[in-house]
Amino acid sequence: MSRSPVQGDFGGAPAAFDGNAEGSRNGHPSTARCVSIYGGEMGAWWEMRCKHGHGWSVYVQEEAEPAEEQLVCKEDDLPAVTAARLPLADRAEIRIVPAAWERDGHTGRTDGYFFEVRSALHPEKVLRSGSSMSWDDAIRCAAMFREVPWSQAERRWRNIRALRRGMV
Ligand SMILES: [Zn+2]
Repeated sequence: MSRSPVQGDFGGAPAAFDGNAEGSRNGHPSTARCVSIYGGEMGAWWEMRCKHGHGWSVYVQEEAEPAEEQLVCKEDDLPAVTAARLPLADRAEIRIVPAAWERDGHTGRTDGYFFEVRSALHPEKVLRSGSSMSWDDAIRCAAMFREVPWSQAERRWRNIRALRRGMV
């Protein structure tokens, strides 16, 4: 499975990037770590709890299990007494694909973009605009797919007039 190249761009970034914003919003502690995803299957969240009731979570790539140090409570150094694997949901994944062309030193459509929605777990399932749109329109379209399960993405796609015109 090939992942979006955008997700690999954080490899050399400073640790200020919060790669776990989704977890933070759900009340999980943010680990504020940079991760590089250069392929492989989607991973899963793991939720741990120590016997004092402290909870924490980590994101682990692919089928791996949390490392030993990730199974230790940061509050009191106690080992986790429970560890639950929470696989990623199949949600709409967004890509804004440059439509710019280049030939013999000339470029065009530099503010043109194709808009793409794909299944987070099955990247072969793709909806892509048949014509290009501006960056601002692509951002507006992206906002319509926030928190949308893949099972509803196709219906949402059909409901967007701007997209329907160019739908492949
Ligand atoms: Zn604890």
